[in-house]
Amino acid sequence: MIFKDTNSLQRLLLFIFGMTILSIILLTLLAYLQARTEQENRQMASLGNQQIILVQSLVRSMVQAEASQRAFFLSGEEIYREEVQDTVSKLGDEMAKLEQLDASMPSTPVNHIPRLLILINKRIGQLESKLAMPYEKGLEAVKQSLISQEGKQMMDDLRDIAEQINQDERRFIAERAAMAEHNAEQMIHLLLGAAILNLLLLTMAYRVVHKATGRNAQLMDEVNNKTAEIASINEFSSNLQSCSTVTEAHELFRHYMQRLFPECSGALYIMRSSRNLLHLATNWNDGNVVFEEAMEPRDCWALRRGKTHEVKDIEHELSCGHLNQDDRASLCVPLISQSETIGMLHLRLDDKKLLPEVRERSDALIHHISAALSGIFLREALREHSIRDPMTQLFNRRYLEESIAREQVRARRMESQFTVVMTDIDHFKSFNDTYGHQAGDAVIKAFASHLQTHVRGEDVICRYGGEEFLILLVGATHEQGLERAEILRQLTTNLEVNISGTNLPTITASWGVATFPVHGESWEGIISTADAALYLSKRNGRNRVSSATDLNKPTEKQAQSIEQDEDKPSE
Ligand code: GH3
Ligand code: MG
Ligand code: MG
Repeated sequence: MIFKDTNSLQRLLLFIFGMTILSIILLTLLAYLQARTEQENRQMASLGNQQIILVQSLVRSMVQAEASQRAFFLSGEEIYREEVQDTVSKLGDEMAKLEQLDASMPSTPVNHIPRLLILINKRIGQLESKLAMPYEKGLEAVKQSLISQEGKQMMDDLRDIAEQINQDERRFIAERAAMAEHNAEQMIHLLLGAAILNLLLLTMAYRVVHKATGRNAQLMDEVNNKTAEIASINEFSSNLQSCSTVTEAHELFRHYMQRLFPECSGALYIMRSSRNLLHLATNWNDGNVVFEEAMEPRDCWALRRGKTHEVKDIEHELSCGHLNQDDRASLCVPLISQSETIGMLHLRLDDKKLLPEVRERSDALIHHISAALSGIFLREALREHSIRDPMTQLFNRRYLEESIAREQVRARRMESQFTVVMTDIDHFKSFNDTYGHQAGDAVIKAFASHLQTHVRGEDVICRYGGEEFLILLVGATHEQGLERAEILRQLTTNLEVNISGTNLPTITASWGVATFPVHGESWEGIISTADAALYLSKRNGRNRVSSATDLNKPTEKQAQSIEQDEDKPSE
């Protein structure tokens, strides 16, 4: 039984309950009518019986009166005359009762009671009139009357009518009893039928309600699951928005995808800024699934068509070029934000039946996720833009100032040191003038990446000015800083730069080294001291490393002139 909506379910239940109530009302009505008929039948039977008894009593009284009259005629004793009169008066009472009874009985086509009463009345009249005969006409007349059996015919008729009434009443009672029995039988059938019907209706109602409550519970489960899912998606989206780096976002993506799609393996591909390649950013629940490390947008139908692409049967359906051929169903969902494809969510699952459900879930999630991811990419790009030098990709001065200030706090707390190395390419103006600005740019880029290659990951390198760079050596002592600067200086002299197939002449750079807190109590002081040390190197002939400690010593030129002054004979 399937209910398309709650209305049809309600209608069906109403119909079932309506039918049950109707059948109960009908049954009650029938039972009431049956009881009434039964009562009526009993009343009729009782009246009939009373009638029979009364008629029999009347006949007996008549016979009694006749006998008393005969005894009176034969004996002439007064007592018998009184007996006749008593019986006659009793007969009068009984007749009145019979008349009353007859009036309360239903009328029948043939009624013998009035005839009986007339006959009795007539006979009583005869009896009464003969009681005076011995006095008026003498004993002989009485004797003749007895011999002639006057009134015998009338008594016979009376008995016949009484018998007739008796038979009629008995038949009437028997008919009523048969009718009652028939009615009772019908009632039993009806009751049985109604009980079965009600049972069927109730079973049907139970099934309907059971089904409806089952469906209800299922719907409640679905609603709860959906609510939990929506809560997870919201949490996911809001957490994504608070991610500060793309790497953090990828980790978060992995975590939530495992939670939201436990039945799937999956991967997140991100579009490169070149827009001709997507790289695998993260993957989860991978099991035996192998995901391509990179792919072109044309390898995926979802990216080509800009909408979700699902494949149930990899052999017979249009499948993407990046899919590794196994039996799993696959779902590719493009991540689109503000009409721009920023990546692709790829899901694989063993249980193909779950594909529609997984698709529905991914549809609910993808817009939030795309928007949040695009926000992170944008923020990261802006941040990179604001902290990096676009030409060398080294950090800019702003970032350096934040980092060095942080490092100063740390060094103070840990009572440790940090060293700043400042460097500037020598005679770069004339290099530019000789080889051109483009060659100069190539040299600056090569020098920047050369510096990056030869310092530790935690150190911060910054393009401080045009051809001037600053290296923050985290946790390094002054000696370690000098050592690193010297290595860098030497390596710089061997740095080869090639432009359009021609090798440019090698460059040199001058270096200045200052250490916190040895050469100053503030990071600003340390930077200017390192800068001063760098210019000391310039003054001392370039391509060298100077320590801030040397700043108070006389320069090489000053030392030479002092020496010359000392050699001169005093005037
Ligand atoms: P010194 O040894 O005293 O440092 O001499 P210098 O010529 O290097 O110093 P100066 O400050 O006189 O000149 C710096 C030159 O660096 C001027 C400018 O042409 C060049 N320069 C600065 N930034 C860039 C850049 O981004 N690209 C190119 N190609 N040249 C740059
Ligand atoms: Mg210079
Ligand atoms: Mg300079």
